[in-house]
Amino acid sequence: MSTPSPPIPIGDDVLVFDRGWLSSTNVLCRGDEPAVVDTGYVKDAGQTVALMQQALGDQPLARIAHTHLHSDHCGGTAALQAAWPQARTWVPQVSLAVVQGWDESALSFGVTGQRCARFVAQHGLRPGDTVRLGRRDWQIHAAPGHDNQAVLLFEPAARILIAGDALWEHGVGVIFPEFDGDEGFEPFERTLQTVEALQPEWVVPGHGGPIARADGGIAHALGQARTRVQQLRAHPAQHALHAAKVMVKYQLLDAEVMPRDAFLAWADAAPILHRLHRQHRPDLAWGDWLQHAVLAPLLARGALLQDATHLRNGA
Ligand SMILES: [Zn+2]
Repeated sequence: MSTPSPPIPIGDDVLVFDRGWLSSTNVLCRGDEPAVVDTGYVKDAGQTVALMQQALGDQPLARIAHTHLHSDHCGGTAALQAAWPQARTWVPQVSLAVVQGWDESALSFGVTGQRCARFVAQHGLRPGDTVRLGRRDWQIHAAPGHDNQAVLLFEPAARILIAGDALWEHGVGVIFPEFDGDEGFEPFERTLQTVEALQPEWVVPGHGGPIARADGGIAHALGQARTRVQQLRAHPAQHALHAAKVMVKYQLLDAEVMPRDAFLAWADAAPILHRLHRQHRPDLAWGDWLQHAVLAPLLARGALLQDATHLRNGA
């Protein structure tokens, strides 16, 4: 857990908390009914609650909303609900029933081998509707690509866009639908068009601080994202390898250190890694692939470290 940097305001009612890696950026919308969008990873949940308490003072958190339900965007929700039991919670409409029944295989945590504390949700975010967060009404738009259930939230008066992982300042995240037997590249490109057409003044990405239109930041980010999606689309096997490295790095960011055997057991039990193996190098045996294709380059650049018995997170 890193020391959080101070939140960045957009106007006088929207506060952006850049949480570094593992946890997503959190957005606090102030008003009569304060709301937070995206809640970080479960490991940082205590810090997420403390940050919100500090920002809210005596005012209770009233609403919690999610751009999508990856573990780094909804892992703090259970702790926030425990701290503010009256808060009501929104998830993308298509995921509402799955959350209410807590079906981990239909949520992403089962497939990725990641952790998330169980939370409850009462409301769906439906593209075409609006949702009141803080003192503004936010439009809900579909944002498929990184996650085909994802939404983005746009406030048309101040032109603030909460993008989740549909846009980052540099590049794009893993395009997961491509590994679920679904399409991801083309939907991602459509989502980038949606972002452009909305003409936001500010984009709050799923990771990192706000990106401004005024200094050309949004146009630059869109250009980089388009280039990256095209690259991945042209080289799907490389995309699979990249995804495998991301999953392994994420696991070590969470665990920090793992006995080698425990790591191998975790990897073997994560269905997504087997899919990525088949898409990247089905000609290699599973263990050879994991060691030589995935771990070796991460070790070579110091992203992971190892000794005789353990793997640990590196730089
Ligand atoms: Zn994320």
